[in-house]
Amino acid sequence: MEADGHPAARACGKCGGRMERGFAAENSQNRYSPVKWHPGAPERSWTGMYKIDKKQLRDVMAYRCERCGMIEFYAA
Ligand SMILES: [Zn+2]
Repeated sequence: MEADGHPAARACGKCGGRMERGFAAENSQNRYSPVKWHPGAPERSWTGMYKIDKKQLRDVMAYRCERCGMIEFYAA
C-alpha cells in the first residue's frame, strides 16, 4: 500500500498478470499534467471553453497490465 491507500501493483482481471500503478498524462502547451475525472458529459460554454467545476475534479490513476496491456482507471 502507498500513502493514499492504493497498492502500487495489483493483479489483472483478464490474464492475472501484474498491473503496475500509473497515471494518464496529457500534454497542454508543452506541460504534462495528470488527467482528472469530472462528472457528467463535457459541455462547452459560449466561449468554447469546457465548463469545469474544479471542486468536482478527482485524480485519476491507471493500472496497466504488464502482460496484456489492459488499463484500468480509477478516480478516487
Ligand atoms: Zn492482463
